[in-house]
Amino acid sequence: MPKPNEQTNHKVPLCLTIDVEDWFHILDSPAAPTIEHWSSLESRIERNVEKLLVLLDAFSAKSTLFWLGWLAERHKNLVRKCQTAGHEIACHGYAHILAHEVGEQAFRNDVNRSKAILEDIVNEPIKGFRAPGFSVTNKTAWAFDVIREAGFQYDASVFPASRGHGGIPNAILVPHFIETQHGHLLEIPSSIVEVFGRRACFFGGGYLRLASKSMIKWGLNRLLEAGQPLVVYIHPREIDPYQPRLPLSLKRRFKCYVRLKSTISKLEWLCRDYQLYTMLEMAENYIKSLYYEARTLPVINLGGNHRITWTDSGEEVRTPVGHQSIRDRILKVEKAMATFLSPAINEHVILNEPQLQPTYR
Ligand SMILES: [Zn+2]
Repeated sequence: MPKPNEQTNHKVPLCLTIDVEDWFHILDSPAAPTIEHWSSLESRIERNVEKLLVLLDAFSAKSTLFWLGWLAERHKNLVRKCQTAGHEIACHGYAHILAHEVGEQAFRNDVNRSKAILEDIVNEPIKGFRAPGFSVTNKTAWAFDVIREAGFQYDASVFPASRGHGGIPNAILVPHFIETQHGHLLEIPSSIVEVFGRRACFFGGGYLRLASKSMIKWGLNRLLEAGQPLVVYIHPREIDPYQPRLPLSLKRRFKCYVRLKSTISKLEWLCRDYQLYTMLEMAENYIKSLYYEARTLPVINLGGNHRITWTDSGEEVRTPVGHQSIRDRILKVEKAMATFLSPAINEHVILNEPQLQPTYR
């Protein structure tokens, strides 16, 4: 058996996400300029995003760009250029606010405003959302209701470990459905590995810049072994070593500006060694695999309350399965299917599997 990511014909899929914001969009610091001042500052977003587009294009790599609405409405052509290049346009809110700081109504207004701006620019539904600073926490469960209510189908706001602005230390590490007041929301959490019983991240922002390639690669292999998706996040300012510096505290200065020159070579390495795809593709693949799994279970379950699988050497393995859990699972997946997949994919799946109506004993 080849180890994950060893020399094989197929590259391991990895989802590169880019939170599109400028050099001055630093959260939670008195030294960061407030929104009234943003327009008067030099913008470096065009050059940084253009540079990323050229890099990704050189490897035919696709990414998901979580755009800040405030920036998107000032750089509409750049948003469209990203879309035309085949990248997914997703939403990072309007004014870069922390969910747990502003409260439910202000968060709702911000999210809805940004989604409307982005949809107006790209002329298609925006399906994915990520809160600034991963600021959805155990204390802001209402945020998932707001995100689903706004019409998003997946969310990438959960950072399943402790962190500065947010984080849910005990959150599930794999994609899962969150039941909200407005239906199921697919959550794709940030990638986290467990090292000596502690949760750690090498896959985004300062963590990605600080960690060596071999550490990152080790972490990515750990994710694969654990069946977790590979999600990397960056900001355009992280490829810009010559950006103006804000008078941040020593700790924040380190986090924001450490090893900015290492980002490009790490991105080139990821583009070369991994198959980069969008978060929407990842989400759709995940839903489809759940769908097939859920619909196959009752068929192989007809002999009793066991799920039958086989080892590589052909030995039968029987795993007890509760009927209730199967029924729950199918209902969940079918509900998610109904709202999540684009009509074309939905039709494709259903047309090709006409007789898989679940049966129960
Ligand atoms: Zn952000």
